[in-house]
Amino acid sequence: MPQQPDRKKTIYFWIIFLAVFGVMNVLIYNRFLKKQVSEVGYNVFMKMIDEKTIKEAALSSTQIIFEGKDGVIYKTGLMEDANLYERLYKSGATFGAEIEEPMNPILYYLLTFGIQILLLVIIWRLMMRRLAKRSGDDPDLLSFSMSGGRGRGTGRIYVKSKNDVRFKDVAGEEEAKDLLTEIVAYLHEPEKYTEIGATLPKGALLVGPPGTGKTMLAKAVAGEADVPFFSISGSEFVQMFVGMGAAKVRDLFKQAKEKAPCIIFIDEIDAIGKKRDNSLSTNDEREQTLNQLLSEMDGFEGNTGVVILAATNRPDSLDPALLRPGRFDRRIPVELPDLKGRIDILRVHAKKIRISENVDFETIAKTASGASGAQLANIVNEAALRAVREGRKVVQQDDLMESVEVVIAGYQKKNKILTNKEKLVVSYHEVGHALVAAMQTQSAPVTKITIIPRTSGALGYTMQVDEDDRNLMTRTEILNKVTTLAGGRAAEELIFDEITTGASNDIEQATKLARAMVTRFGMTEEFDMVAMEVLTNQYLGGDTSLVCAPETQTRIDRMVVDIVKKQHEKAKEILQQNIQKLHEIAKHLYENETITGEEFMEILNSSENTLLTNPEA
Ligand code: ADP
Repeated sequence: MPQQPDRKKTIYFWIIFLAVFGVMNVLIYNRFLKKQVSEVGYNVFMKMIDEKTIKEAALSSTQIIFEGKDGVIYKTGLMEDANLYERLYKSGATFGAEIEEPMNPILYYLLTFGIQILLLVIIWRLMMRRLAKRSGDDPDLLSFSMSGGRGRGTGRIYVKSKNDVRFKDVAGEEEAKDLLTEIVAYLHEPEKYTEIGATLPKGALLVGPPGTGKTMLAKAVAGEADVPFFSISGSEFVQMFVGMGAAKVRDLFKQAKEKAPCIIFIDEIDAIGKKRDNSLSTNDEREQTLNQLLSEMDGFEGNTGVVILAATNRPDSLDPALLRPGRFDRRIPVELPDLKGRIDILRVHAKKIRISENVDFETIAKTASGASGAQLANIVNEAALRAVREGRKVVQQDDLMESVEVVIAGYQKKNKILTNKEKLVVSYHEVGHALVAAMQTQSAPVTKITIIPRTSGALGYTMQVDEDDRNLMTRTEILNKVTTLAGGRAAEELIFDEITTGASNDIEQATKLARAMVTRFGMTEEFDMVAMEVLTNQYLGGDTSLVCAPETQTRIDRMVVDIVKKQHEKAKEILQQNIQKLHEIAKHLYENETITGEEFMEILNSSENTLLTNPEA
């Protein structure tokens, strides 16, 4: 029996059913009244002939069935009556025709009741199918209950679907795909492995930042191997009452074993797989669930054909017991895509929309450096929406470029009016960054500078695009970056002799970099190669926790301040030496609101020095 996926919808179902049931029964009842046969005497029959109230009559060898003009059906016995036909003829009744004798009322009711039950089953099945379709992102997803135990579950099974995910749909992530290919091969031909005595890993853990395609990869493994796919989120196991989560785990494995070969996919496994520790606030339910999962994983043989894939973006918080060989012993990193990966992902998603042929995906992928697969998919969709907004039928390059900015900095704020003074400050601030960057590297530091406010809160921003993906950063590069970050504030100080709140984000970033130099990258003489901080939650923004004595912390803070201060001074010096260019470019930006990298370099390299004497003019 299908599982009840949604309470509210089941209530609607019952309301509709009762209404249909009620109406049908009223109809049946009415029909009974009308079609009821009344047995009457022959005299009534004769009287009705005289009164000419008979519509139709059928005469058999033993009885007469006749229908009055009132719609009622009568029955009477056949008598010796010589000129019956003549009289009937005179009365205007049709006779000789067969009148259907109504069915036995009880039989009739039983039959109609059967139809009602049949109707109920059909409606129920249709509803379940629609609900199941809606409850998953796959049109062929069936949802069914987990039998037994208290844990009525939400284990879902994908039956073979027509438009399932394949490896080719997951762009980039070649290493992850390579590692998963073996699992696919095993699910295809388990005999090949069992013959030689090899046992395949029972589980593989997909580890990486959010939106990099972990769920997609797991679906693709099921799609490639053409096996059912059970998908459940770790948080669904965590229930209010102790023992319910564990029951769900039991149910899930029981069903999976019945459907083997198949794949179980547990998303966000950290919800149940967190380290069991001795902290006072124990979570019995979660621990029981985890224990059940561990014992289930131990409980089945490697060759039953059940492969467990799990995804997490917090691998460091997982219980070591979960990671030991025989459980999730394969760890598959699913990292943010590199440049090629980003181009491929954009291409995969661009296939779903109507796009101009001369779109340069490489430029877009370069601009969207650091974006995840999900963000890139979003960029393509935003571009399509923009094209529609602008009344075009085809997506163009500038739609994609604008949507990259939307994803990075939010939408343009059309009604945010900056005062002229503010606009000027923002212009100098942004050009300050760009100029400092340009003077340090002697190359185009930016692709675009704009002072159009965005919904992210940025009043303006400088878009930098690196030619290649960078994996390493030198000490000088980090210092240069801190100087560039300080460039905005330095410009404000130089020109307006006043500082604003606009630099808060720069300050945050500069501090983070300087701190990492001291505590994690071993880039100071004093601490040499000693780690003072460890990185936790690497895939979720990268928090750090200090691992040093309180006195050392004070020294670290001192050193961080020194680094930032020194680079701030350097930024001021650079701008002081190029103050005319600062005025020139800022004026241009102030007037045009957006300038490109080429325009920036043109002004920077031009020889005329038109000094703005009064910046507020
Ligand atoms: P995760 O499970 O890692 O958080 P998902 O697999 O749910 O991420 O991905 C979310 C969406 O992002 C997918 O539906 C897909 O549209 C897009 N996406 C992510 N990574 C890729 C990729 N490598 N190739 C194509 N699309 C991707």
